[in-house]
Amino acid sequence: MGGYKYEGRRLPVQDKKARMKTHRNKMTEQDPLARARNFDEVNLGYDAETAISEAERCLLCPSSPCVKGCPVKIRVPEFLDKISEGKFMEALEIIKADNALPAITGRVCPQEVQCEGPCTQNKVSKEPVGIGYLERYVADLERNSMDRCCVNCSPPTGKKVAVVGSGPGGLTVAADMMRLGHEVHIYEAFHKAGGVLVYGIPEFRLPKAIVDYEIKCMEDLGVKIHTNHIIGKIYSLDELMAEEGFDAIYVGIGAGAPRFMGIEGENLLGIFSANEYLTRSNLMKAYDFPNYDTPIAQGKKVCVMGGGNVAMDSVRTGLRLGAEEAHIIYRRSHEELPARTEEIHHAEEEGVMFDFLTTPIRFIGDDEGKLVAMECIRMELGEPDDSGRRRPVPLEGSNFILEADLAVIAIGAGPNPILTSSEPEIELNRWGYIVADDDGKTSKKGVWAGGDIVTGSATVILAMGAGRKSAASMHRYLTGEEEW
Ligand SMILES: Cc1cc2nc3c(=O)[nH]c(=O)nc-3n(C[C@H](O)[C@H](O)[C@H](O)COP(=O)(O)OP(=O)(O)OC[C@H]3O[C@@H](n4cnc5c(N)ncnc54)[C@H](O)[C@@H]3O)c2cc1C
Ligand code: SF4
Repeated sequence: MGGYKYEGRRLPVQDKKARMKTHRNKMTEQDPLARARNFDEVNLGYDAETAISEAERCLLCPSSPCVKGCPVKIRVPEFLDKISEGKFMEALEIIKADNALPAITGRVCPQEVQCEGPCTQNKVSKEPVGIGYLERYVADLERNSMDRCCVNCSPPTGKKVAVVGSGPGGLTVAADMMRLGHEVHIYEAFHKAGGVLVYGIPEFRLPKAIVDYEIKCMEDLGVKIHTNHIIGKIYSLDELMAEEGFDAIYVGIGAGAPRFMGIEGENLLGIFSANEYLTRSNLMKAYDFPNYDTPIAQGKKVCVMGGGNVAMDSVRTGLRLGAEEAHIIYRRSHEELPARTEEIHHAEEEGVMFDFLTTPIRFIGDDEGKLVAMECIRMELGEPDDSGRRRPVPLEGSNFILEADLAVIAIGAGPNPILTSSEPEIELNRWGYIVADDDGKTSKKGVWAGGDIVTGSATVILAMGAGRKSAASMHRYLTGEEEW
């Protein structure tokens, strides 16, 4: 796909010029002040007319820089061309050839650095074609208009595949292997399948009905899902093979172990890891009180440490749970914020306050051990570090006190060792992530791995891309086409 060229119709020069003068169609959204107090989805979607008009902005570039920017190489100009002709289901078919979960990626992919970043329209006018919005449009259309998903599966091969972890990577492997005719069982530690899509990303960004629909489609295909199964505790990988009869295993257990700051007072009441805070709100449905009675701390002044998607989701959840003030505390500047551009913009619109070049050095509690404030220090940016971003350096004597009754730590996550520590044959790197080759093969025969447990915290589409490669390799192995 590296040499992909769009071989479809060519646009006459005058049409190209006219298209270059058009403006990106805005997505309709809930009003910022209203949505900051509810959990309904922020973006409301395009209608058919707007979708066609947006797709008509595509210049059908033969060199397709958008495709080069997409981690799974979706044939973007081809699907946009179909939408411009009103052939929505044909467009979806083109997307689904490379991406099994378009309603999800259309909502959560960082398009600004993938397909839309290098889009020619972005270079011309800073208004790239709304590729993500259009991907979402056709996927939603299918979900809202059909009773069942129509997918043809190959005849049964008699081979059994176990998928450990039901995040986007595991779901992709399960769907691909099922279609190829293998019997697939997913083992998931939580009581609900979906990984970060259900326990991390909030309803207002990714409605859970969409994830539920995709999982139901897989179950309809015949995928068996075993929830409340922690592999490494209930079964080892060898037991799955020897006792449960699996011929191959995919490990897609993510990187869900929270990191803490390691500063004084971090055990005070009112301080949470983002993982716990979001899991309580999303997976345990604390946000849906009184339908669910899950306890969750409701701060008046919420401070979230970090600048990624996890931090934005936490601070916006705090706001929706009733905070009077919600702050992002980030040690670098606006330019270095790693979250999706749209999420930062939405958080700003909703009234989230950003304290840049700031970090806490101590949490302060009252007599009852409850958080009341944080001592912070200002930073300045020095030379670039290993990540290429300028290193924050503390400014001596700039200490100040910031009041807070709820703090959420969203500074990253690492690998959970429950499975990996009990599997000595699986090679890990020095940070505890699984070592796997380009096809996802690990050091243990018959075991593949991919997604965040291999790369460290990354993105939904990268986990899906890794899952797709592993499924293809696993299929070659199971059909005898390839030796281990
Ligand atoms: C709050 C939040 C917001 C994010 N926002 C975005 C975004 O906007 N865009 C984007 O592209 N990416 C985003 N990401 C990152 C993205 O969600 C991850 O990169 C992606 O989900 C990784 O997929 P995965 O399949 O590797 O694992 P995960 O989605 O982490 O799923 C792993 C699953 O394995 C299960 N598991 C773990 N151990 C075991 C075990 N021993 N036995 C059985 N099951 C086990 C876990 O319970 C989990 O369900 C976000 C992440 C978070 C936390
Ligand atoms: S780069 Fe932009 S304009 Fe060119 S084909 Fe891709 S989406 Fe269309």
